[in-house]
Amino acid sequence: MEADTVIVGTGVGGLFSALCLPRDQKIIMITKSDLESSDSFLAQGGICMLHDKDDYDSYFEDTMKAGHYENRKESVDLMIRSSREIIQDLIDYGVDFQKQDTYDHENKAAGKDGNAEIQDIYAFTREGAHSRPRILFHADITGKEITSKLLAQVKQLSNVTLLEYTTMTDIIVENEECKGILVQDKEGNEFEIHAENTIWASGGIGGRYKHSTNFPHLTGDALAISEKYGIRLEHLDYVQIHPTTLYSKKPGRRFLISESVRGEGAVLLNSKKERFVNELLPRDVVTKAIREEMEKEGTDHVWLSMVKLGKETIMGHFPNIYQHCLEEGYDVTKECIPVVPAQHYFMGGVWVDSDSKTSMEHLYAVGETSCNGVHGANRLASNSLLESLVFAKRAANKISGAENEVKVREL
Ligand SMILES: Cc1cc2nc3c(=O)[nH]c(=O)nc-3n(C[C@H](O)[C@H](O)[C@H](O)COP(=O)(O)OP(=O)(O)OC[C@H]3O[C@@H](n4cnc5c(N)ncnc54)[C@H](O)[C@@H]3O)c2cc1C
Repeated sequence: MEADTVIVGTGVGGLFSALCLPRDQKIIMITKSDLESSDSFLAQGGICMLHDKDDYDSYFEDTMKAGHYENRKESVDLMIRSSREIIQDLIDYGVDFQKQDTYDHENKAAGKDGNAEIQDIYAFTREGAHSRPRILFHADITGKEITSKLLAQVKQLSNVTLLEYTTMTDIIVENEECKGILVQDKEGNEFEIHAENTIWASGGIGGRYKHSTNFPHLTGDALAISEKYGIRLEHLDYVQIHPTTLYSKKPGRRFLISESVRGEGAVLLNSKKERFVNELLPRDVVTKAIREEMEKEGTDHVWLSMVKLGKETIMGHFPNIYQHCLEEGYDVTKECIPVVPAQHYFMGGVWVDSDSKTSMEHLYAVGETSCNGVHGANRLASNSLLESLVFAKRAANKISGAENEVKVREL
């Protein structure tokens, strides 16, 4: 097959890249599984946005502090300064974020206040290590809301061909440049997709772990291919463990109990039902405290209580978590749930520059596969959807020769 651009992966990174490329490009997108089976569909908590210009310093510092100051400052700056434009893009594509109760939707929609800013219209939640609420959300299924809307848009594009159950097994390299990919379909047939440019948007590495919140087919395939060709990799040891997944003895993906539950006031308890940590510290710190408590007590989980959030908040903001826990036998409006840390996110990956270009010509990487340095040693909650979208757009602009309007600035 021939394409101008071939995109590996149909999560937010891949979909947004396709939407930002010019319509006269012939694009082929492939996914290892079905179109809905990507981690992007699983995101619960939300997506960050620079709340207003006075929020810049605090958002920058929160991201750097969570990342142990190992973040690439210029990438953090680009992400934060691009965030409002990206959120506006999502709203324009029909993504529906929770609005403020107090906002007068009827009158404003009627045009009486056409200039209302995003922060005046939408509600913001808070998660661990954020010093203020700056996270937009759609109940506790933000990822599904964003990704399904982007997928619907891509499906309408006549220049994009979507291939399900098609796995990239290698890349085509000529004169040290990437010229496309080698794939295998469901029946085991192998074929080549030749392309001027290739974008890896193939997600994280959770499938390599016994306990992970990720889909099992996300196995870091781009990393193995990179090693083969000497494509630069970065921070392969920076793996985020999420402190709170629902404890279960069943095999398979671990169900995430979003950090925004703690942001709204849920507390962690030991076996004596005593608190042992500040729940809003960064993820790695909370995970360490849970591990230590489990070791001290000789238990294989701790407890999380959402009870004080009240039934109304739980049913309104966390209906998916409520329902899933109920299916597992726990009513979170009345009782604690057992939680345990599990692999969740990969901060390292294929090294890219600020336009998402890898060290190989004509090869780009976006989303969790890539490492543009935004997250440093540890990701700040709800920064990854935003980071994926910002740098997918930058890759698309670079490929099409369009200027990336937000420039790296001297920090
Ligand atoms: C449970 C959960 C909750 C989360 N909550 C949040 C949140 O609230 N906020 C936030 O910002 N982030 C959150 N995240 C992280 C965020 O969802 C991901 O980092 C982000 O969606 C990654 O997007 P992506 O496009 O890079 O990859 P993905 O969405 O994972 O997509 C990867 C794609 O690559 C395909 N693929 C992989 N290998 C191959 C191959 N060899 N050949 C062909 N296709 C391949 C897959 O089939 C898939 O289509 C959460 C993650 C999880 C797991």
